[in-house]
Amino acid sequence: MNPVEIRKDFPIFAEQINGHPLVYLDSAATSQKPRQVLEVLKQYYEHENSNVHRGVHTLGTRATESYEGAREKVARFINAPSANQVVFTRGTTESLNMIAYGYARQRFQPGDEIVLPPSEHHSNLIPWQQVARATGATIKYLPLQSDGTIRLEDVEAAVTANTKLVTIAHVSNVLGAINPVKEIAEIAHRHGAIMVVDGAQSVPHMPVDVQEMDCDFLAFSGHKMCGPTGVGVLYGKKELLDEMEPTYFGGEMIDVVELYESTWKETPWKFEGGTPIIAGAVGLGAAVDYLTAIGLEEIAEHDAHLASLAIERLQSLNGIDVYGPEAGVHRGGLVTFNLRGVHPHDVATVLDTQGVAVRAGHHCAQPLMRILNVGSTARASFYLYNTEEDIDRLVEALQQAKEFFG
Ligand code: PLP
Repeated sequence: MNPVEIRKDFPIFAEQINGHPLVYLDSAATSQKPRQVLEVLKQYYEHENSNVHRGVHTLGTRATESYEGAREKVARFINAPSANQVVFTRGTTESLNMIAYGYARQRFQPGDEIVLPPSEHHSNLIPWQQVARATGATIKYLPLQSDGTIRLEDVEAAVTANTKLVTIAHVSNVLGAINPVKEIAEIAHRHGAIMVVDGAQSVPHMPVDVQEMDCDFLAFSGHKMCGPTGVGVLYGKKELLDEMEPTYFGGEMIDVVELYESTWKETPWKFEGGTPIIAGAVGLGAAVDYLTAIGLEEIAEHDAHLASLAIERLQSLNGIDVYGPEAGVHRGGLVTFNLRGVHPHDVATVLDTQGVAVRAGHHCAQPLMRILNVGSTARASFYLYNTEEDIDRLVEALQQAKEFFG
């Protein structure tokens, strides 16, 4: 895998930012898009655009074939047993809310427990708070180690016969830790609970096999994996999706509509009320093709290598705090840090003057920020188009920031 060649696929790298070539280190927020995806979107709108599942005309058939073809590509990408277990959604947030509304709120009651770490992204925390409020179920938080990781023995201790749902991010968007989802799923299942995996930061960056990890639901976003914004995926085990209620009611998702009662289509179409995210799904299918051709193993290795190198380089600068586990195999491709005594927004602003884009803020993880005892942090996140030279530019820009703030 050659990131210098890969960069040429991404038109955005022709941009000059404040007089400098762009160093994009914010792929955990959203990734850049390769020409191969942009061209498929253009091809779709110029040659296939129509509504799906409705028209008997030629364009309707083309659009439907492209849309359903994208579902098959996504299913193969995560090794889902069938394409019917892939629901197109707006993204991770919507997928997780659909589980909360359509599954958990219908079933949970007082005494039931939902187990998760307090380090979760707000998208995998607030929906469960809402389920607890609506049903009387209780949220039980797993303890975090000082580096922000969780221990399997703490999961064993927390999960009981009362536990109905266990959830965790496969890769933390703040700490970069890769969580042992397969082992956690095994513990959850042993106690009769279901396992929900937030794959927003893993599916774009490493091979993810839903059958191997044996999760019950997996949520992820297209825009973080070279696809367009506005499309994501909810994968679920067939029997759970069949049991689950739709969240959106209206066109497209129905079978028979009577005046006082209606019936739904089968999974997954019953979850896709209204005109679906057709072009988004087609673009996501192109992104899946693009990433598959490069190889997810290679991407994972590349991202982890850059993160390790960045940690090493940042730690060699005086006055930088790096959060999360040590560099190594259990870390994904991102690094969260602070320049001591300087607000991360100021750090990010100075880096931007040098063309270096990093994220600064609470990263949608306010409870975790409190545990880390910081208001906010800066985060550099890596993807297939980043190079070691990007890390040199980050370090140089940080040195300038250090000098500037004294
Ligand atoms: N979960 C994690 C771990 C994330 O990093 C993100 C996005 O940053 C989300 C959920 C939410 O994704 P989206 O905003 O695409 O719905």
